[in-house]
Amino acid sequence: MQLIIHRGTHQIGGTCVELRSGKTRIILDYGMPLAASDGKEFDDRFLQDRSAAELIKERVLFDIPGLYKGQEPQVNGILISHSHKDHYGLLSYLHPDICVYVSEGVLKLIHVLNVFTHKRSHVVISKPCIVKHKVSFDIGDFRVTPYLVDHSGFDAMSFLIEEKPTGKRLFYSGDFRASGWKRALVDRFIKNPPKNIDCLLMEGTMIERQGGAYQDEQAVLDGVEGVLKKAEKNVILAYCSGQNIDRIVTFYKAARRAKATLVIDPYIATVLHVLKNERNKIPQLDWDSVRVLIGNYRGRGDVYINKIVNSDFKYLTFGIGKHKIKAWDIGKEKALVVMRDSMIPLIRKVPDVKGATLIYSQWDGYIRDKKKASIFWDFMRENDLKLEHIHTSGHATVDILKQLARALKPKRIIPIHTEHPERFKEYFGKSVAIAEDGQLIEI
Ligand SMILES: [Zn+2]
Repeated sequence: MQLIIHRGTHQIGGTCVELRSGKTRIILDYGMPLAASDGKEFDDRFLQDRSAAELIKERVLFDIPGLYKGQEPQVNGILISHSHKDHYGLLSYLHPDICVYVSEGVLKLIHVLNVFTHKRSHVVISKPCIVKHKVSFDIGDFRVTPYLVDHSGFDAMSFLIEEKPTGKRLFYSGDFRASGWKRALVDRFIKNPPKNIDCLLMEGTMIERQGGAYQDEQAVLDGVEGVLKKAEKNVILAYCSGQNIDRIVTFYKAARRAKATLVIDPYIATVLHVLKNERNKIPQLDWDSVRVLIGNYRGRGDVYINKIVNSDFKYLTFGIGKHKIKAWDIGKEKALVVMRDSMIPLIRKVPDVKGATLIYSQWDGYIRDKKKASIFWDFMRENDLKLEHIHTSGHATVDILKQLARALKPKRIIPIHTEHPERFKEYFGKSVAIAEDGQLIEI
């Protein structure tokens, strides 16, 4: 088989990999880059009014014949590892007849994000094909076996891809970790890995990053519980991504232990609702001690409720209404309020927010630059908030990467989704082969 990593050999985000065998061609992930060609943060407004041909010139898309709208389809399928935009964000340019292989949970999350975001950010999947944990399927010359893994993105998958005519096998790790609530998936995989791997495409996000003070989701739970119990104020803010399901589960558990109410917003309530049947431990808006914050955003009503009313989730408004809480009612009892920048206008109306604790529960790289993160820092300052950084990464530590490499015993390891591929050799030895973006590699 032939492998081309179009993007990802020397950067995190925007992953796009092509595999060829005879006449079969498949793509693994087609993500939006996190950084633009000038090194600045990639802004999706750049995509507006630009055709696929123009974006190919700009090196945002790649010249993959038969992949895009308006071309004769020559690509047999595209596999999406998980619902982070840096892995699926450019799918809208795809020819609508090309099958997009995704898990049910990922498809639902992409749909919810479309409901709540601006039209220019929508990602449309015209022809989804649902994949399931360890259920193999064929795409032309390839046999694909997805493996559910632990990651901060829900329903994340690794893929084993075998070229049937030759028996050559490639394993694509996708993004993964072994420190979340689904770590057993990775433990089990490492105990019983697929054999005879010729090439391992392994993510290396954490190769040069420190793991931080909180080793795993359990440590985050203990940390949040500690903050809740010792807080003098009844209001504790928790800042995190609305799609980090593990973290919302952690917040729910911590709130239960500390006898606090978990306050979510209509967006998170919808995310949790669509995943209700995927796992039974995902908190729901009608559970005891969960409330949904709704209110008036600068005279425009509740912007999230407005989106729900105009979507196929309209039926949720009744349940949200029954379990709603208004900003001025928060703080009568202890409450952990999950928030992000866009909710600041409502959080300001919470009576006792001044001097409260804000638990920042994401990678702190996002707020390191005080100018770029000025909305966040202004909010902190105005309200005299106390910052606690309680977070564990969505990505595998070097130790876990070593365990994966030892288990799979690949003939070759190619670093991907990393800014430091050169460090792989010192950790994983001679089998490491550093690739360049766009290089054709024979496996
Ligand atoms: Zn990810």
